Amino acid sequence: MAVGWHRPTKLVIDTQAIMDNVSNEIKRMPQGTELFAVVKANGYGHGAVQTAKAARMAGATGFCVAMLDEAIELREAGIVEPILILSVVDVSYIDLLLKYDLSVTAATQEWLEKAIKQLSVIKAELPLKIHIKVDTGMGRIGFTTPIATKQAVALVQSTEGLIWEGLFTHFSTADEKDDRYFEKQNSRFKEVVAEFAELPKYVHVSNSAAALWHPDSIGNMIRFGIAMYGLNPSGNHLPEVYPLKPALSLESKLIQVKELPANEGIGYGNTYTTTETEWIGTVPIGYADGWLRHLQGFSVLVNGKKCEIVGRICMDQCMIRLPEETAVGTKVTLIGQEQGTEISMQMVADKLETIHYEVACTFSQRMPREYK
Ligand SMILES: *Cc1c(COP(=O)(O)O)cnc(C)c1O
Repeated sequence: MAVGWHRPTKLVIDTQAIMDNVSNEIKRMPQGTELFAVVKANGYGHGAVQTAKAARMAGATGFCVAMLDEAIELREAGIVEPILILSVVDVSYIDLLLKYDLSVTAATQEWLEKAIKQLSVIKAELPLKIHIKVDTGMGRIGFTTPIATKQAVALVQSTEGLIWEGLFTHFSTADEKDDRYFEKQNSRFKEVVAEFAELPKYVHVSNSAAALWHPDSIGNMIRFGIAMYGLNPSGNHLPEVYPLKPALSLESKLIQVKELPANEGIGYGNTYTTTETEWIGTVPIGYADGWLRHLQGFSVLVNGKKCEIVGRICMDQCMIRLPEETAVGTKVTLIGQEQGTEISMQMVADKLETIHYEVACTFSQRMPREYK
């Protein structure tokens, strides 16, 4: 995909913010706990490799991704630390898992049996590192009972080509005030853990929310995702434990500014009409960049002042109402701070009736990412 290097619209990623979030978390983790940085989906849109490198500098000792290709991207960029693939990888790619020294999730007995067959088909010389996933109530992937988990572990331990490297689960409500369901999952996982006399190298349960609000959860590793990017996992329903520093801002520049008389239509469908003489500015960003049409009526910052997005957002451009004549080339902040006023990812998410995770992942590859 062509990246708009020659257009003034860009995502600016503050790697220091990522480092600060990681080191603030590491400071409060119990002794002996490791932090794995979750950099799936291109580092939640922030750039997987750059995020991983910043996290590593701040003390992350491993990484989590969602799919094989994301893991390979990290390896090819020179990341040598452990990488865990959190989702299911087809056994036909076990050669690649071994070649790139990746740890993989086992979520069913069938997968394990197929994996063992495949290991003999390819005459694997290296052992495959397995993290056994327990579904304690997320209902997504994993072994659903202690007995099934025990059988899986027994199979892994009795197979020469497999190493039992991890045991883990994932919470569905760690970001909520009501912790009854969290406790139900937690006690189910503890029941599973109690089945084993010996545990693997990594036992891990915590995503960002659990790490922040349930810091005494069991395990010796956390999977730190959204909070590393400086975003509150609960969407501000729960207070931050330490100040999270948002790493991403979105900037552009005015490409045209004009004064229109009253009763002029703006944009497709003519959904906005000037009511008086108005200054209208055009910004080169649109829904193809992930600046979605539903953001009509939302605001952006120009010279520290909020300016409304007027008319429909187009594929590549949108229009804003300026309080006064403003020079072409003036900076427009769509996410970030200007002169003490902030437009946060959370505000964008609220307007879109979604979560900031989705906003971050929706920014397209068309926008260049600049690192500072
Ligand atoms: C994405 C993911 C995480 C990270 O979650 P955050 O809320 O971003 O911290 C952790 N564990 C699993 C299994 C995941 O899929």
